[in-house]
Amino acid sequence: MKYCKSCLTTSLRPNSSFNKKGICVACEFSSQSNSLSSQTHLVRLKEKIRLLRGQVKLKLNNYDCIVGVSGGKDSTRQALWVRDRLKMRPLLVCCAYPPYQMTDIGASNLENLVKHGFDLIVDTPAPKTSRDLSKKSFVEFGNVCKASEMALFASVPRIAIDFDIKLIFWGENPALQVGDSLTGELADPLDGNNLRYLNTLVDGGEDWMDEVFDSVHKKEHYKYPSLQEYERRNINIIYLGPAWDDWSNEMNSTFASLHGLTLRPNEEKITGDISNASMIDEEFTNINMMIKYYKYGFGRTTDLVNESIRKNEISREEGIELVKLYDGVCDDSIIQKYCKYIEISVADFWKYTNYWINDRIFTKTEKRPIPKFNVGEDFND
Ligand SMILES: [Zn+2]
Repeated sequence: MKYCKSCLTTSLRPNSSFNKKGICVACEFSSQSNSLSSQTHLVRLKEKIRLLRGQVKLKLNNYDCIVGVSGGKDSTRQALWVRDRLKMRPLLVCCAYPPYQMTDIGASNLENLVKHGFDLIVDTPAPKTSRDLSKKSFVEFGNVCKASEMALFASVPRIAIDFDIKLIFWGENPALQVGDSLTGELADPLDGNNLRYLNTLVDGGEDWMDEVFDSVHKKEHYKYPSLQEYERRNINIIYLGPAWDDWSNEMNSTFASLHGLTLRPNEEKITGDISNASMIDEEFTNINMMIKYYKYGFGRTTDLVNESIRKNEISREEGIELVKLYDGVCDDSIIQKYCKYIEISVADFWKYTNYWINDRIFTKTEKRPIPKFNVGEDFND
């Protein structure tokens, strides 16, 4: 396992790639995109929209674009930015978690968007199907929300097709933010049309879900529309992140909380989330962050810290200390709740989880494994 020389990305990250100097793709992008300012990207973004308007009729059914929202910090900011800065009329689309799973904070943050005057469509997959898929993806992939992530990404373009809306805005470009190089368009960081190749959507395919569905229309929630369908409908995806000079986890949560968003303060020892602001609409994702750490040697703290290192907010050494404290943290209470949800025992939870622990970099125990590596130092696994 190798570490990026500049940040703390490991070579075990799916789709990661390092250049000859041992620098990850996200750090390389970041040094390049610094030379191309967000102001330049904003001009390009507006030009893209102008060109699109020349090619297709954007304003139909009262809306000229869709902003995919989750009720989290990024979506609050995106929605307001598209309306107030770009002067567009977005339809907000949210693929919500089933009632059992959604936190009260998640629900009140969606309500907050409506209070800001937006039209919001909430699409909720059938609860029992959603639970069965979560259990299946946990057992088969060591991922408790694989299906709900697929539903999240699929629901937005599906509603774009249904409403004949040609333009979709997403916030962050995964290549720029976390270094998923499959989606990375070096040529154009604003271009989101490669989103379909995101690891989350491609890895494992779709067929594993089939035996859970008892009707065809339930599957529609989870299937990303085909490339042909996209092209026939002239649907375009644009990332907003590169066009903002202060797009970051930190800024987005500050901005969003000033606009009524509720965060989860002081819960980092329970959730492992040092920002107290990611995935506030749902708790089980924290389990995924823990398992991700066991699989690849890095978790959410690494992702958050890497962003701060790239922005020169903290040093690599300070990042290492935070990662040591918080990567892999997910309180037993969350695990117990999840076990109750999918109807398995806690012992079985660890039995299944153990299967996903990478024993080249962790020593397995009956419960939580112990890392063999030191954060930030290349490890001969
Ligand atoms: Zn890096």
